[in-house]
Amino acid sequence: MAYKITEECVACGSCAATCPVGAIAEGSPIYVISEEACVECGACASVCPVSAIVAP
Ligand code: SF4
Ligand code: SF4
Repeated sequence: MAYKITEECVACGSCAATCPVGAIAEGSPIYVISEEACVECGACASVCPVSAIVAP
């Protein structure tokens, strides 16, 4: 399991800059979290300005 980015994402990039393991990449049109890389720390969800990241 991993955190997930929903359609609410406005592609600001804050989550990718915050992830300690580099699990978030810029996608088209929204950012995406690698299920394999995510260690479920929750850091990305806490910085997202539009609450687009949901816990597993
Ligand atoms: S929960 Fe943590 S490890 Fe997973 S994508 Fe977010 S910041 Fe990265
Ligand atoms: S912080 Fe939120 S709005 Fe910004 S890129 Fe990540 S998921 Fe999208």
